[in-house]
Amino acid sequence: MKSKKCPICGTENREVAKYCRICFSRLISLKSVVLKTSIYPKVQNRRKIINFLFIILLVLILFFLIK
Ligand SMILES: [Zn+2]
Repeated sequence: MKSKKCPICGTENREVAKYCRICFSRLISLKSVVLKTSIYPKVQNRRKIINFLFIILLVLILFFLIK
């Protein structure tokens, strides 16, 4: 069975545990840290750019339709 090591006291906790069973500090899984620090902001920025381009495209289409 997988276990999560507490970053504060080093106690092995269950994989599903959110808090350490000894010192009650929050256990942050490596996966969520990586996701938050590296991948997620990039995806969000790209999504913003895509939204921005999409709005410009819509405005241009509307402009030509009205004309
Ligand atoms: Zn602990």
